[in-house]
Amino acid sequence: MDTIIVAATQNKHKIKEIEAITGDFGLNIISRGEADIPDVEIIEDGNTFEENSYKKAYEIMKLCGKITIADDSGLEVDCLDGAPGVYSARFAGVDGDDEANNRKLIDLLKDIPYEKRTARFVSVITMVFPDGDSIVARGEVEGHIVLQPQGNNGFGYDPLFVPEGCDKTFGQIEPEIKNSMSHRANALKALRKKLEERGF
Ligand code: IMP
Repeated sequence: MDTIIVAATQNKHKIKEIEAITGDFGLNIISRGEADIPDVEIIEDGNTFEENSYKKAYEIMKLCGKITIADDSGLEVDCLDGAPGVYSARFAGVDGDDEANNRKLIDLLKDIPYEKRTARFVSVITMVFPDGDSIVARGEVEGHIVLQPQGNNGFGYDPLFVPEGCDKTFGQIEPEIKNSMSHRANALKALRKKLEERGF
């Protein structure tokens, strides 16, 4: 599939990961800037990752008329009833303040033993076509939350998340390893499978 696909996300970390993961898929992903899309803000007011992901992809597809993909993602912590969930980016109040979000999470979990600090990252990737058709793919990765940020790789909650089967956080492991096992990788692999089933 050599068609150009616009990434609706403005998050540079996510774009970098999506490009790295899809490198061998034959998807030609370009950013909103490269597609000359005006700087519009899309209000993420959905109650689910699926709603927000579709909204982002659809709004940007309407502006550019090209196939568009969007990632809506976040962290679900079991003992917090799935919080921060769809509010992951603005958990502590300010959108994208990773440090404040991590501090708030540590504070909420400080009295919970490690084995009960189970969590998962979720990524929902939606591809919207110019005729309005869409494909939705979800990926998850299970793990535990640590109370001391570790490592400078990645972004967001990565320094606090230890994926299952690993003894390091996403902040400590190499980006190639994260990109082989992350929620985003799993969602993009599921998307690729669905595209293949449709003959792309
Ligand atoms: P979104 O841009 O509304 O989808 O918000 C995603 C938020 O979830 C980010 O700002 C991070 O806080 C968190 N998040 C999503 N994916 C990751 C990841 O791969 N690592 C760390 N944090 C993530």
